[in-house]
Amino acid sequence: MIPFNKPFIIGNELKYIEEAVKSGKISGDGIFTKKCNQFFEEKFGFQKVLLTTSCTDALEMAALLCNIKEGDEVIVPSYTFVSSANAFALRGAKIVFADSYPDNPNIDPKSIEKLITEKTKVIVPVHYAGVACDMEAIISIARKHNIFVVEDAAQAIDSYYTFSDGTEKALGSIGDFGTFSFHETKNIIAGEGGMLSINNPKYNERAEIIREKGTNRSAFFRGEVNKYGWVDLGSSFLPSEIISAFLYGQLEHLEEIQTKRISIWKKYITELKTLEEKGKISLPVIPEYATNNGHMFYIICKSYEERTALIKCMKEKDIHPVFHYLSLNKSEFFLNEEKEIDIPNADHFTDCLLRLPFYFELSVAEQDLVIAQLKEFYNA
Ligand SMILES: *Cc1c(COP(=O)(O)O)cnc(C)c1O
Repeated sequence: MIPFNKPFIIGNELKYIEEAVKSGKISGDGIFTKKCNQFFEEKFGFQKVLLTTSCTDALEMAALLCNIKEGDEVIVPSYTFVSSANAFALRGAKIVFADSYPDNPNIDPKSIEKLITEKTKVIVPVHYAGVACDMEAIISIARKHNIFVVEDAAQAIDSYYTFSDGTEKALGSIGDFGTFSFHETKNIIAGEGGMLSINNPKYNERAEIIREKGTNRSAFFRGEVNKYGWVDLGSSFLPSEIISAFLYGQLEHLEEIQTKRISIWKKYITELKTLEEKGKISLPVIPEYATNNGHMFYIICKSYEERTALIKCMKEKDIHPVFHYLSLNKSEFFLNEEKEIDIPNADHFTDCLLRLPFYFELSVAEQDLVIAQLKEFYNA
């Protein structure tokens, strides 16, 4: 059986968990959390990061940091995971859906511009498949209208954007805030886990407070205040040392993980090129300004019916590709309140995008089987 995803252990994950337990401190912000934070800040140039229990939590923190209030509008691509929208809806925001490009699931800046009103407070670019959105265009729209940019970089660790002046920046370090996931389906995993990057030091202190249940506990432990208490809104967003210890075990092998994943990605694209040339499927496009972090590999089928037939055919051979995102404009939650709207490119990806098995331990033989099965289906 070839699953869609498989969690893996690569180094000292279990040893570090044992060390954390034996150290006598397994709640948050101990040695391993600090090691992870330092790793991310040094490697990717983030001004400041805070580990969280999920990307969803990091998005909720970002919504609090942007002071989202009832009636504020937040522009989100319709083709995304629920959390990109839900985190802001929880604070009372009205979610406004932008469309993807026709040939790339990322948010199209031209679609954003039309949606801006006086109430727009945030734009949430989602770097789908770890491939950068056009951040220069998005940042320029945001600056013009004085609105926040929160990058949903859940899939985008170790991926970069190049500005027209040649400057390259890590995804998650460009907007006001960036949010990452270490869920078992992402490149670097901790079971469940996430991170908030804060790109303007003005928000450092408040972010710490929000993450520590609305208290100034972090400042207290640094000896900056002589008692701590309730000073702001907040929740419990910090992960235990057990999670950070596992994560650090993975981070020590970041390069090996990325090299392997990128080689899997390249093999898929090389082998499937002929199907694209014959006009049977479309393959992912990486724009000039973006890098590829080997997060996932997808194909675009011609129709919903064809995709359904392909999945059935693969499953008969015990290969398990998956489709995803029912675009949010078609979700039950949205349709409870609002009337149905079409977001054409997002709807197309909802119907036609298929993700192929992709995980660190995917063997050459397994990948060959997936490719052979796809070719058999399309050449039949
Ligand atoms: C995985 C994912 C999330 C959620 O991450 P969690 O860590 O599971 O909360 C959010 N947005 C996108 C685009 C994702 O792919």
